[in-house]
Amino acid sequence: MTTRIAGLNADYRGQPTRLFIEQMLRDPRLGRIALVSSFGAESAVLLHLVARVNPAIPVLFINTGKLFPETLAYQQQLTAQLGLTDLRTLRPNPEDLATQDATGTLHQTAPNVCCELRKVRPLQQALSTFDAWISGRKRYQGDTRSDLDYFENEQDQRIKINPLVHWTPQQLEDYRQQHQLPAHPLVAQGYRSIGCAPCTSPVTQHENSRAGRWRNSSKHECGIHFINGRIQRRNTTPISQAA
Ligand code: SF4
Repeated sequence: MTTRIAGLNADYRGQPTRLFIEQMLRDPRLGRIALVSSFGAESAVLLHLVARVNPAIPVLFINTGKLFPETLAYQQQLTAQLGLTDLRTLRPNPEDLATQDATGTLHQTAPNVCCELRKVRPLQQALSTFDAWISGRKRYQGDTRSDLDYFENEQDQRIKINPLVHWTPQQLEDYRQQHQLPAHPLVAQGYRSIGCAPCTSPVTQHENSRAGRWRNSSKHECGIHFINGRIQRRNTTPISQAA
């Protein structure tokens, strides 16, 4: 797998993004590919780029049960506007929730466990039938992502594809406006990275876009991302106990 990843990164490095996506979607080395989208603040650009090539690609959307209503509405709006024909909504296992988060407040005391139940497990189950998945992560989004490459080895099981690693916030905004893509409604209220409602807050102009995710906690990632086989998570500090 490591050799295959190195070959993919060498072959695709320097490609314009649109060409990258066109070639990647028909590259036999990648097998069955899904796109995973949060339908968050920056999701429209990647969805648009991929939909222009293949609107029938499976798009996996994790509805944790804790999303903003604005995100649910935005997901429907973008899906219709882009003509996506294979939107798959993933949900937590009801038995997991009944036994481990019956009150719906697990995020306050054990956010990593909450993310595991509501995000990681549903996604891992859905991805079990795919060989590769497309993610919208960018290098500018923070130190856990600053050395991202285009292709990553996910636990020797799948390939993670990051077509937008080198994009800047300005490029994303220019593209969105150029193609008349709607903005997530919460962006106008200062939300520049949008996840679950209890764990997301607006950011100031001077903060990193992800500073509002799990604010006042040293948690930085939800756990669905692995880099070089290691889960991208800083620690297990509950939000309620963080400084
Ligand atoms: S982001 Fe918060 S509410 Fe959403 S799954 Fe993770 S801990 Fe739970």
